[in-house]
Amino acid sequence: MKRRNPENLEQLLSRCGLRKTRQRLGVLKVLADAAGPLTAEEIGRVLRRAKPDKVTIYRTLACFVEVGLVHRAYLEDRTSHYELSANCSQRQCHPHFTCTSCGATRCMIDTKVEMVRGIGRGFVIHRQQVRLEGLCPDCA
Ligand SMILES: [Zn+2]
Ligand SMILES: [Zn+2]
Ligand SMILES: [Zn+2]
Repeated sequence: MKRRNPENLEQLLSRCGLRKTRQRLGVLKVLADAAGPLTAEEIGRVLRRAKPDKVTIYRTLACFVEVGLVHRAYLEDRTSHYELSANCSQRQCHPHFTCTSCGATRCMIDTKVEMVRGIGRGFVIHRQQVRLEGLCPDCA
């Protein structure tokens, strides 16, 4: 699966109008290297050497989400998972597949899903997120 990851993380920050800090670059790098969406705890674990506190990670993530650099994905346990928005479109995130046997979640970057229709008057959709459950090839 080929992922579109930004080659220059510093450029990405400045394009979003964010000042470059060690903390931001660190979190961004973890997300760019990740195989799937990560929780704030998981990001903190990878960054352990830099010893960031939890509040700083949450604040950094909130800031990334606000400028659209990072999307929140809700997986099986309703915890926020975070990933770079580079592989999403304006109105829709790529689907996520979670294996109910081994628990692994994969980004289905090449999978196309139609936008929902017939949602009714007055509703405004900001983003569609699709979550799939089943067995991965290793478990099927
Ligand atoms: Zn997304
Ligand atoms: Zn599996
Ligand atoms: Zn993903």
